[in-house]
Amino acid sequence: MKLFTLGPVEIYPEVLSVYNNSFVHFRTDEYSDIVKNCLQSVSKLIGNSTKDSMIYLTASGTAAMEATIENCILENDKILVINGGTFGKRFCQLLNWHKIPFSSIDLKWNETLTYKHLDNFDKEGYTVLFVNLHETSTGQLYNIEILSDFCKRNNMLLIVDAISTFLADDYNMDASNIDVTIISSQKGLCLSPGMSMVSFSDRMLNRIYKNSKSASAYFDFKDYIDNIKRGQTPYTPAVHIMYQLQSMLELIKNSGGKQVWIHTIKEKCDYFRDQVISKNLKIPNYSLSNMLTPLIFEDINAYELIQVLKNKYRIFVNPCGGELANRLLRVSHIGNTSLEDIDDLVKKLLFCIEELKGAI
Ligand SMILES: *Cc1c(COP(=O)(O)O)cnc(C)c1O
Repeated sequence: MKLFTLGPVEIYPEVLSVYNNSFVHFRTDEYSDIVKNCLQSVSKLIGNSTKDSMIYLTASGTAAMEATIENCILENDKILVINGGTFGKRFCQLLNWHKIPFSSIDLKWNETLTYKHLDNFDKEGYTVLFVNLHETSTGQLYNIEILSDFCKRNNMLLIVDAISTFLADDYNMDASNIDVTIISSQKGLCLSPGMSMVSFSDRMLNRIYKNSKSASAYFDFKDYIDNIKRGQTPYTPAVHIMYQLQSMLELIKNSGGKQVWIHTIKEKCDYFRDQVISKNLKIPNYSLSNMLTPLIFEDINAYELIQVLKNKYRIFVNPCGGELANRLLRVSHIGNTSLEDIDDLVKKLLFCIEELKGAI
């Protein structure tokens, strides 16, 4: 069996081996030290130099998206959302759920986000921009520079869901003037699902304290920020994932650090893309993350192809939701997979395509 999925991914044996040892209880100095060290390292990887600026939640990424809305938005904010697929739409749905008004830039499938889309919203009094920097549903990686410039020009806060770009592409919160970064355990960090992290700029930390009351009791960020200063959380955290994180950070460090890590993913990504393109398979023209490659099918059903690959070979790739379900599949390049695994995937993918075309 092999997972070429986006998360959960093939977990590294070093990370799984944490289960061979026992875990200390979380209300101890020993555990606090692990948390402080880990979050400091992740903050470094994310490029945020603000001290004690990262909290972690025992919840998947969507909860972190919602909690950010519940804690980082003020009454009179004017909000803009980049809505280029399932995850952009999710921000819209969450804002709607909380009855918070917003405008959105709705991209059509295959439409690249450019300066022009943002121009319409220039000098219109917007205060916050929400974006999923890598729109995982289509694979489009937005240009952080145009978003960052736009926010700087309009003195807006920039809230980035970086869940599916972190540790696959370059990312730096300080350099891009990003105020919130949301990540989660099962994507770039290649850990079990169930933990998400939120990282804040200095001005966002101040704003959270200004916010009179969080819309969520369980996810009251002030409580998490106060607690994290001593390496703690208000409620019982996913202790086992923290141990996994500790082991993963060690693995990244020992493999040469962040740049080498990202380079290895890029290598797998380029290797896969070269192969599929040489076999006349089609990938989108817009800018892509190293984390995944979407394949576009016109003559066979992509969803059926995924089922055949799974049932016949126990190889898992990601389907696509909504209207693209029958046209797109997505192959991930993160996790414990090798170039040989990719050779095998491509070979079997081609078999399945032939089978569906009725040639076998
Ligand atoms: C995976 C992902 C999420 C989180 O989804 P969960 O199922 O809640 O973990 C959020 N945003 C993006 C861009 C993602 O890729």
